[in-house]
Amino acid sequence: MEKKGTLWMRFPGGKPKALTLSYDDGVEQDVRLMELMKKHGLKGTFNLNSGLFAPEGTVYPEGQIHRRMSFSQAQKLYKDSGMEVAVHGLTHPFLEQLTPAECTREVIADRENLEREFGGIVRGMAYPYGTFSDSVVACLMAGGLAAP
Ligand SMILES: [Zn+2]
Repeated sequence: MEKKGTLWMRFPGGKPKALTLSYDDGVEQDVRLMELMKKHGLKGTFNLNSGLFAPEGTVYPEGQIHRRMSFSQAQKLYKDSGMEVAVHGLTHPFLEQLTPAECTREVIADRENLEREFGGIVRGMAYPYGTFSDSVVACLMAGGLAAP
């Protein structure tokens, strides 16, 4: 008997469309953002740089907008939150400017740290600065973060 094609329903309840939100860098604003997302039943992905958590107790100067969370703040917020945590590079480099070995280290180390500290398998990734190259895509494949 000939096997027919398989239809994969990717979204809960068989819904044909889904909206997802993603936010980068693990900043303090994510606390309020996650409150709003949960209030409205939204899911999202938080792309984190596990090598750039702020030192515990960091107090930012007034007016500074980009305020990374400490590890303990991040773990409290994201772990078991029902949101996805994903790779954003260990140290937020321009991945396409690195050697393949450096690029691979950036993504694999970030993935390993996030899996160890936040639980679960991390499969998502957002390019730091949104830039990439064929070489970067190859290093993501090596790290299990992109399909050939
Ligand atoms: Zn970023």
